[in-house]
Amino acid sequence: MLRLPLAPAHSCDRRRFLIAGGLATAIGALPAWARQGEGIRHNPFTLGVASGDPEPDNVLLWTRLTPPLAGLGETDAPALPPLKLRWELAHDEGFTQPVDRGEAMALPQWGHAVHVQVNGLAPDRWYYYRFLLGDAASTTGRCRTAPAPHAKASRLRLAYASCQRWEHGYYAAWAQVAQDAPDMVLFLGDYIYEYATPPLTVGLARTQPLRTALNLGDYRDRYALHKSDPQLQAAHAACNWAVIWDDHEVENDYAGDSGRGDPARFLARRMAAWQAFYENMPLRASALQRSFQGLSLYRDLRWGQLARLHLLDGRQYRSLQACRTPGQADAGAILPQECPQIDDPARSFLGWEQEHWLSRQLQGDGRGKARAPIWSVLAQTTLFSARRYPSGKQSTDSWDGYPAARQRLVQQIAHSAPRNSVLLGGDIHQNYVCAVPLQAHQAPDKANPVIASEFCGTSISSRSGTTQAKVDAVAAHNPQLLFARCEERGYGLAEITPQRWSTELRAVANPLRADSRIYTLAKFTVEDRHPGPQRA
Ligand code: FE
Ligand code: CA
Repeated sequence: MLRLPLAPAHSCDRRRFLIAGGLATAIGALPAWARQGEGIRHNPFTLGVASGDPEPDNVLLWTRLTPPLAGLGETDAPALPPLKLRWELAHDEGFTQPVDRGEAMALPQWGHAVHVQVNGLAPDRWYYYRFLLGDAASTTGRCRTAPAPHAKASRLRLAYASCQRWEHGYYAAWAQVAQDAPDMVLFLGDYIYEYATPPLTVGLARTQPLRTALNLGDYRDRYALHKSDPQLQAAHAACNWAVIWDDHEVENDYAGDSGRGDPARFLARRMAAWQAFYENMPLRASALQRSFQGLSLYRDLRWGQLARLHLLDGRQYRSLQACRTPGQADAGAILPQECPQIDDPARSFLGWEQEHWLSRQLQGDGRGKARAPIWSVLAQTTLFSARRYPSGKQSTDSWDGYPAARQRLVQQIAHSAPRNSVLLGGDIHQNYVCAVPLQAHQAPDKANPVIASEFCGTSISSRSGTTQAKVDAVAAHNPQLLFARCEERGYGLAEITPQRWSTELRAVANPLRADSRIYTLAKFTVEDRHPGPQRA
């Protein structure tokens, strides 16, 4: 049987707990957590803790209880009963200066996930939190409130990341993120991958025993697998995470209600996957829609007057990829002249409601508007900038597959004119740094000025599937791509001040090692009121 790595600080193996339980029974004092329900003979805080979107007056705390992870994926693994937890929030790590405490239920129908919102907090402060069940305790997490909306915040340190396929690499990047001590992690999609371990395991960092995820139990197990990683847990415990999703949280390349195979079966699969996403992410209950028809994931976050982050959902509402046969796999890349449908302005990447919402948001960020932020950030899942391959082909799944929708958004940015616009993305498993011009599909020049900057991040662990020689040829063919690298896994670390945005591209020296060295591959800055990244 495969043994998953367990976080040492708060996990013990099942046998040790059985022995401890037996001894306790012998002296008539079974641990309180063991008395709460049948079969609890282990510390159930196996997946760590998390906190969600920073807001000025409240924090969202998360944890999820599981049976021993050694039984992950086994259908006869024991289920947990409903359990009542306690939570604590304090000013200090030792919990000697308590702020608030309470109780919450971990219920089987929500996968024993717990989402607690703690209200009435002071803005711009760090707090510590933990969960307790009898005498079992979770790890202690650190989280913070955002500065008040009118506050002149002087700094925001932001890590952005995506794509953490289990088999392709260890999560050394996450250990370094925790060391970097950002205010917030932006996770831009592909938190899980739905696949089973490939049959050929040569060159993989690690394997896992789960079948391809299809139903709710499968997706819950898949999150438990990823979240069992101690380095990922450390990054969650270090600061708040704001999350959006991409395709692999459900099925590769799905678009709205279209996936592969039987449509009804796909919709059931998508619903199961979305429920598991909610259960496992530090999202507020406001993400849940009535009768659970979907998740409301597009939203904004304010960091005082310094920044406003617009978090976008690029999967739930998009039109089907151009020239994709319903029920079949996406074509990948196509020649636009062989697929005129790609330019149809009736096709949307965000869906019309979200497009209108974003248009209003950008108007609110516009130059001269009261309380307009210095930095307007569009956090979304994939590459925004145009990327033509030397063959003339273009991708159908990124914004290149929705050129009219991309141009509408560029026009909105140009029309609303936020003081500074920066796009963040993921999905492509490569580092791209781009200048976004007014005509997004053409090279920037005097007649086609740059209006925004883009940092599309590489992956935490997922492989790129291409070569640097090919990527160099692509970059030479597309002057708006200032920097393009496919060989490094890692994340981006942005330091945002009123005067300057600085991005460090952080790279993992060896993805096959959990203790890999992390180094800075390149550094770019964007100066206030000067759109376009500059190599530092
Ligand atoms: Fe990915
Ligand atoms: Ca995909």
